[in-house]
Amino acid sequence: MADHVSGKRFYRKRVDFFRLLNKLKLWPSQAGILHGVKAIVEKGGYAEVTTHCNHVMIVRNSKRSRAARWLRNKWYFAVCSDCKIPEWKLRKYSQSFFTQHYGSNLLKSTENESSFERGGL
Ligand SMILES: [Zn+2]
Repeated sequence: MADHVSGKRFYRKRVDFFRLLNKLKLWPSQAGILHGVKAIVEKGGYAEVTTHCNHVMIVRNSKRSRAARWLRNKWYFAVCSDCKIPEWKLRKYSQSFFTQHYGSNLLKSTENESSFERGGL
C-alpha cells in the first residue's frame, strides 16, 4: 500500500487525509452514517471515494474538512447496514487514537509508515 509514496520526502509534512482514509476505510457521511470505503481513486487535489454501498463522493484532501474532523473525532450516529463494516474494524476504529502518535495504535502492520503518523493529522 505504501509503495507509491515511499521515497517522497515531502510526504511527512504533507497533510494527507487520503492516507487516513486509506487506512481506516471508513467514511462518515453528512448524515452521520458511517460507511465502509471500497475504493479511493486519487485525482490530484481530490479523490473519488466509493463506499461499499456504492455511493461515490468527491473528497478534497484536507484535514480541515468535515469528514476529516468527524473521522478523527469518531463522530457518527449510525453504521451503514449496506456496507457491512465488520465489528473488529469498528472496534479498532473506536480504540485508535488520533494524536501525534496515533500510528502506534492504528494498524500495527504498517510500522514502516510511522513517519506519516508523526506528521500529525
Ligand atoms: Zn454504506
